[in-house]
Amino acid sequence: AALERKPEVDIPGGWKEGQPVPYAALAKAFSLIEGTTKRLEKTAILTAFLILVIERSAKNDHQGLLQAVYLCINRLCPDYMGVELGIGESLLVKAIAESTGRSLAVIKADLKKEGDLGLVAMNSKNSQKTLFKPKPLTLPFVFSKLKEIALTTGNASQAKKVGIITKLLAACQDVEAKYIVRSLEGKLRIGNAERSVLVALAQAAVLAEKERLGKRWSQDKLATRLEQGTEIMKSVYSELPSYDSVIPALLEVGIDGIREKCKLTPGVPLKPMLAKPTKAIGEVLDRFEGKRFTCEYKYDGERAQVHRLADGTVGVFSRNSEDMSKKYPDLVEQLPKCIKESTQSFVIDAEAVAVDRTTGQLLPFQELSRRKRKDVKVEDIQVRVSLFAFDLLYLNGEPLLQKTLEERRKLLREHFTIVPGEFDFAKSSDSETTDEIQVFLETSVKDGCEGLMVKMLDTPASYYEPSRRSVNWLKLKKDYLAGVGDSLDLVVVGAYFGKGKRTSVYGAFLLACYDSDGEAYQTICKIGTGFSEEFLQQAYDTLKPLEIAQVRGDIKAGGAKPDVWFEPKVVWEVLTADLSLSPIYTAAQGLVEDRGISLRFPRFIRVRDDKDADDATGPEQIAEMYERQSLAQSGSKKKGGDD
Ligand code: ATP
Repeated sequence: AALERKPEVDIPGGWKEGQPVPYAALAKAFSLIEGTTKRLEKTAILTAFLILVIERSAKNDHQGLLQAVYLCINRLCPDYMGVELGIGESLLVKAIAESTGRSLAVIKADLKKEGDLGLVAMNSKNSQKTLFKPKPLTLPFVFSKLKEIALTTGNASQAKKVGIITKLLAACQDVEAKYIVRSLEGKLRIGNAERSVLVALAQAAVLAEKERLGKRWSQDKLATRLEQGTEIMKSVYSELPSYDSVIPALLEVGIDGIREKCKLTPGVPLKPMLAKPTKAIGEVLDRFEGKRFTCEYKYDGERAQVHRLADGTVGVFSRNSEDMSKKYPDLVEQLPKCIKESTQSFVIDAEAVAVDRTTGQLLPFQELSRRKRKDVKVEDIQVRVSLFAFDLLYLNGEPLLQKTLEERRKLLREHFTIVPGEFDFAKSSDSETTDEIQVFLETSVKDGCEGLMVKMLDTPASYYEPSRRSVNWLKLKKDYLAGVGDSLDLVVVGAYFGKGKRTSVYGAFLLACYDSDGEAYQTICKIGTGFSEEFLQQAYDTLKPLEIAQVRGDIKAGGAKPDVWFEPKVVWEVLTADLSLSPIYTAAQGLVEDRGISLRFPRFIRVRDDKDADDATGPEQIAEMYERQSLAQSGSKKKGGDD
């Protein structure tokens, strides 16, 4: 229905076919999207805007659409290339002051009042008297400047960045400054999740094609085509998460042709398949009853997706598609020994685990985390790693996602070789009774693993599902069996100064979950016990540069009042034995009750460098955990939650 009303997204005067997209048009679309809370309307606005971009782009020119999509998801290139926006508040304040002639103090005071630097930039610009109307900004120009800013490093890079931002802001009109500043901050805050952008892109492609071909479709036919287009786009993007590849193909062959053209490609990491937690072996058997499945060791290391291109180039990617080849030069070096001659190009899914080279013993994740993250030299490496491969996703030019796990595993074992202490296949057992699983679970823990991964073995249910938390993969961790439940990944959004000996560092921290639908962080608990002095110092060093003057607008603080607020960036894994309703925190508010949910007695487990703030646990999962716990306690809800 939202699509029928055709949102009016064009700007006065429009822009001619073949001309670059005016930045004002994108800013207008952002503004309209921000102005509604309805998801369908947001998508309809973006769809209408993308249709204009497609229709007015010159033939064979995909840049406008590509850049528009990137700015909608606040990126400049695919994830794995590691070019990021996220300019610090102080630099932006400086640039706003310089380009508007207002003092730093005034800008800071405004920021305190508004809580949104984008708004402050826009208001500062609009209250400024200008003699000349600046030349309109174009999308390619803004995009190239943002890229230049993101890529500026080295000496005097801060001053250079401020210089470029200042000039960019000077050319802004109306609402443009608001969105340029928010893009620079790394958060658009228009409530448009990445998957809605994907949906809008698919719909725009279908509708633009319909117009071009002058098709007349019934409502039913239109709805079916839109749904099919969206499905195709989602599946293509999960296999090849790079708009650099998908958008040119989309414009060339249309939505129906892209599945053939865009397939898993070594060098472009795909989002990994994830598992659902289970509480007990009985639950595993209930879910997999009558099906063939396998249990594998759940190794306690770091996920590593290893790609080898046909030319021999090797890339190691993390769980969130970061390039880790510089962190693991030893893995890259070890790899040729583990490959059989018949193996040319491939993608394997594996866990990199710290091992003791002399005894061959697996070491816990804490050992692995002692390794440097960047520019590691093989000769300096103290903590050795071994790769445990559990899946093969691509082999010699052919994607294998739609083969059964049994077939993929067979190919994996045929095409790779075990090298003790360097490469092995994940230990597995295709056992099916509770007793057998119990014994295998205990052995896995004795061998230094976290527990088991239980996976469907045959039928299409065992196909590899990129980016899905699938019911066809279950995790059975030793911790759950002790009754404490799954861990949570939470974002550190604030801190409290320490007392006594700890006054020079933070003593406790405010954590939040992430609501990806509403693009907001919801506070969940304060954590302040069980930290070593050394850890507190490290945490201080990492978090201090992220301090911000004012709580960000997308942090739903509730009644939490930390001494300092942070840019949401750092993710910690935390265990809890107990969840309770809370008058203070906002996590999962409205899902179970009007009150939020908080964690009682949270225990810190590890820093999750491999997760971004928006990978943090979501409110639905927290509500689910709370409800499960209430069920276990036969419905007796606890009250409380303290700050
Ligand atoms: P977790 O906190 O459990 O690591 P997660 O959200 O990172 O959670 P899950 O899908 O919940 O990911 O757990 C699976 C993780 O366990 C994988 O990401 C991978 O790093 C690790 N792992 C270890 N051994 C295996 C295995 N045999 N098969 C799949 N994943 C494995």
